[in-house]
Amino acid sequence: MTPDQTAIHDDADRCPICGEVFIRGALCAMDVTEGICHAECLEDAPVVDPETGEPKDGPADTFLWSPWPAPLRSPPTSEQTDD
Ligand SMILES: [Zn+2]
Repeated sequence: MTPDQTAIHDDADRCPICGEVFIRGALCAMDVTEGICHAECLEDAPVVDPETGEPKDGPADTFLWSPWPAPLRSPPTSEQTDD
């Protein structure tokens, strides 16, 4: 998979952890306090259920970032997984 780096603009959404502009296809996760972050930037953070705000076990829900608004309440989990 080759991330599309042509869609970068100054007003693009950025990861609040590392400050990098999101590129299409980047693996992201929703942090309950920071919002959308790179999944890898959240690897060391405790996983919190975005619905309840409670810590939970297991990996956070992740999704592939795309230039249109990401779903805030129910990010897709499995349907965008194509190996
Ligand atoms: Zn990041």
